[in-house]
Amino acid sequence: MRSKSKKADTLITHAGRDPYANFGVVNPPVYHASTILHRTVADLEKAQRNRYNQVTYGRYGTPTTFALEEAVAAIEGGHRAIAFCSGAASCYAAILGFVRAGDHVLVPDSVYGPVRAFCTGFLARFGVATTFYDPRLGAGIAELFQSNTRLVYLESPGSLTFEMQDVPAIVAAAKARGLRTVIDNTWAAPLFFKPLALGVDVEVIAATKYIVGHSDVMMGIAVCTEESFLPVRTAATEMGNHAAPDDCYLALRGLRTAAVRLRQHQAQGLALARWLEKRPEVARVLHPGLPEDPGHALWRRDFTGASGLFAIVLHRDIAKPAIDAMLDGMELFGMGASWGGFESLILPAHPERLRTAVPWTEGAVLRLHAGLEDLGDLIADLEQGFARLAAAR
Ligand SMILES: *Cc1c(COP(=O)(O)O)cnc(C)c1O
Repeated sequence: MRSKSKKADTLITHAGRDPYANFGVVNPPVYHASTILHRTVADLEKAQRNRYNQVTYGRYGTPTTFALEEAVAAIEGGHRAIAFCSGAASCYAAILGFVRAGDHVLVPDSVYGPVRAFCTGFLARFGVATTFYDPRLGAGIAELFQSNTRLVYLESPGSLTFEMQDVPAIVAAAKARGLRTVIDNTWAAPLFFKPLALGVDVEVIAATKYIVGHSDVMMGIAVCTEESFLPVRTAATEMGNHAAPDDCYLALRGLRTAAVRLRQHQAQGLALARWLEKRPEVARVLHPGLPEDPGHALWRRDFTGASGLFAIVLHRDIAKPAIDAMLDGMELFGMGASWGGFESLILPAHPERLRTAVPWTEGAVLRLHAGLEDLGDLIADLEQGFARLAAAR
């Protein structure tokens, strides 16, 4: 398929598939493999020189892996993509591809928690320093550049608190200094934001969320430009990364319906956010798709939609026992890590435990994922939750 001329929905439906290469079967088959045989020494040597461009060993991927990687690369407008065993693994490899001992990286204060832990743990142990920056800094990020700064990491909107970043301004500042940029685009992928088109070097996606879409597979994907592919691919190899073929198959299967699911998650999320805005218990709704949100202008400029993940801040005088009473009795909103499946979720989030550049001083935060249930049923579940909260105050 000539992907350059095709629109997002078409790419999501068709990229990475070649039915007529497999009896007309619509979906790519699952190849299980470790050993790949070669008939001649010449073939073996060719494979060894070419290990990222053909099937050479199970760890580097089978045709099933390549189908997923090809699909996501086409959808995101990248040169190549690399599938990982988890979203976290893709974040870590994207950073490790560019840094060495003595380097410095800039990471937004609202970064996904495990990436923060990777920076303060693994990177620090191997001599790479991290500065966490206010995610709302735009071109002003340049003031934080040091002589040894190598990489600027972005995530927009941020985890738990949903601050929007001025991606083009940060990328321009980084490029002016020859620095690499990596962005975590999990929130909007694979439909609503295309950071590679804005000059970002590597886009990482926790495919566990909306690409898989059914809460049953862990998967990460790094989408790379031509120059960034080999460094990230090498880091993946050096860490022994491998995405399992059955999981790649399920990720591809989820991907095909991601566009319709995302639009419905968007509609449900915005409707719930607007309803929650009017609740007396809620001090603030953190959702860049709302006109009142401080990041709304950036979101409108750079994004074409919003996913179903957002948060609410409760008034400061609402204490833990009342919040626990609300959450303990939820019928439809499940409580648990991750998101992006078909079901609604609610989770006490604790930005105050994670922020170091901009301390969190507002009230308790609840993170919500708007699932695909009936909106009225979801609102009724929240309404009953607020009644339990009121009774426990
Ligand atoms: C979930 C998530 C990840 C990590 O993905 P896993 O598949 O759980 O490892 C990374 N970044 C963001 C923003 C996430 O929400």
